[in-house]
Order: sequence, then structure tokens, then C-alpha cells
Amino acid sequence: MIELTYERLLVPLPDVPGLVHGIVSVDPPMVQCDGCGLVATGPAGRGGLTVILADITFDRGDGFTERLCGECRRARGLDS
Ligand SMILES: [Zn+2]
Repeated sequence: MIELTYERLLVPLPDVPGLVHGIVSVDPPMVQCDGCGLVATGPAGRGGLTVILADITFDRGDGFTERLCGECRRARGLDS
């Protein structure tokens, strides 16, 4: 099991060019929530696992392009 660290940044970080929205760093891998600025950071070289375990995801709804953490999804009624 890998350990992620979390911090809340007030400023949205830029996406890494060429990668999907919300991936704001590759080394170390970092994923950011669009709602609250929460950033999950994983160990170097474990980008895929970091994205999965961070649980900062896109909603499945139509035209929804924001990446949100669980707390933000629940606040918007997107998660039960
Ligand atoms: Zn959030």
C-alpha cells in the first residue's frame, strides 16, 4: 500500500501539458480538486496508483469536466 499526503492549496495549479485535467505534477505525482484545491501527492513513479487512490475524480454526468474530491462531490449532491 502506498501513502498519499494531502494539502489544501488556495490557488489552482496548472495541468501538466499533455495529461488529463487535474494532474498538476508528475514527479512526484499530484492530483488537485477543482472544488476546494485539495492536492493529493503520491510517491515518485506511482502516478497511476496515485490518481486512483486520491479519489479526486470526474463526475459521470453530462458535460461535467471538473475533477472533485469526495467531500466536494458530496457537497454538490454527486455522491451519496
Ligand atoms: Zn474538493
